Amino acid sequence: MEKLIILGGGESGVGAALLGKAKGFDVFLSDSGKLSDAHKQELEQFGIRYEEGKHTEELILSATEVVKSPGIPEKAPIVKALRAKGINIISEIEFAGRYTNARTICITGANGKTTTTLLTHHLLRSAGYKAELAGNVGTSLARQIAAGNQADWYVIELSSFQLDGMYDFKADIAILTNITPDHLDRYEYKFENYIRSKFRITQNQTPSETIILNADDPVTTEWLPQMQFDGNRLFVSTHNNTSAAYTSNGILHVKATDKNNLQFAADKLTIKGLHNIYNAMQACLAAQLAGLTDEQIANALTTFVNASHRLEYVATVDGVDYIDDSKATNVDSAWYALECQQKPVVWIAGGTDKGNDYSTLNDLVKSKVKALVCLGIDNAKLIKAYTGIVPQIVEARSMEQCIAQCHQLAQSGDVVLLSPCCASFDLFKSYVHRGNLFKESVLQLKK
Ligand code: ADP
Repeated sequence: MEKLIILGGGESGVGAALLGKAKGFDVFLSDSGKLSDAHKQELEQFGIRYEEGKHTEELILSATEVVKSPGIPEKAPIVKALRAKGINIISEIEFAGRYTNARTICITGANGKTTTTLLTHHLLRSAGYKAELAGNVGTSLARQIAAGNQADWYVIELSSFQLDGMYDFKADIAILTNITPDHLDRYEYKFENYIRSKFRITQNQTPSETIILNADDPVTTEWLPQMQFDGNRLFVSTHNNTSAAYTSNGILHVKATDKNNLQFAADKLTIKGLHNIYNAMQACLAAQLAGLTDEQIANALTTFVNASHRLEYVATVDGVDYIDDSKATNVDSAWYALECQQKPVVWIAGGTDKGNDYSTLNDLVKSKVKALVCLGIDNAKLIKAYTGIVPQIVEARSMEQCIAQCHQLAQSGDVVLLSPCCASFDLFKSYVHRGNLFKESVLQLKK
């Protein structure tokens, strides 16, 4: 019997274990941390062996093939040992992709993955398609296939880490939103490695499959000529005559095929900001390629609700709007958040810095930000970057303190924007935890 070893027991690992079991593999799951009780129960129910708190090398090195969770880096000793022995290491999507004939729309990029994935899924579902979400959002692809899901389409959010473990998988429709430096600690601090990883989304595509690219993204356009792939290319832009374009009169024009000619007023989109215009254009092209009519797309665009913590309006207190953009964990996403603000901004930033270069924000910050509240344990870099640029800078070490300061600094007609540029792990469990505390504190203030 072939031995399938799963490294990592999160949603994707447990999903892969269930699918492996269903397909007749001898499955063993190993996690160096703790497994949740629910996952343990599930593994036991299906008779799948597992260990937690360690990786037993002898056992793991007997694998025929390994499915590795995206969170485990190449530098982990167990991964090095597997590589040294030449054992195949793949990702959950690669594994699951072998067992489905459903068509796939795969979305990657530095920013905008979740929004574009959810929007594309919403468009397909609203048109009556049997479409499911997978990848970094919702239930893992492997689990859904193990459960016998009969979806016609999977809309899959792919991180670069998932892509790194994909070899034979092919996306019927791929979307690359944009590329800016992120996660460089996992790529030997070489931006090029991260870029090449993102372009893996095009692998195995033939001219019958399509990749939707952003013509306005400087990194994508710089690297595109060097990338070898056969997929058909469609582009979006706000100033070029591309398959999807945004014209100065505020209209999105989207035309993936000769049958399409969607025209949609951007102010009717439920998601705001320039970045969301790009996300919407890419999602609309994918939907057209999947066969939706322009009318179906136009109707569904007006009913989309995005996931929380992405430029989410929370409340207005004493004339001040509070906006939760806790998911902005890098400089580029904060750029777009600041770009679309029309009122003076009290900006909350800070947290775990991933090697940020704040200088690209300088012009926007100068013109829009009246006060900066640094929400982190170590705020020295942020303070240094904005001293002399932002008139008032204060520090906060808890959300409560932060909101009290914002309340003092902001006047009626201002906006308080949590768009931190940084990961949350110094003071919070996650960006969700940070965003939820922000919302709670604002609602408390409103009372
Ligand atoms: P991801 O899944 O890639 O992290 P999200 O859709 O969750 O992307 O958005 C993450 C953050 O990036 C949010 O703050 C959001 O406002 C911002 N954002 C969304 N789309 C884009 C885009 N196309 N370009 C830049 N920033 C974006």
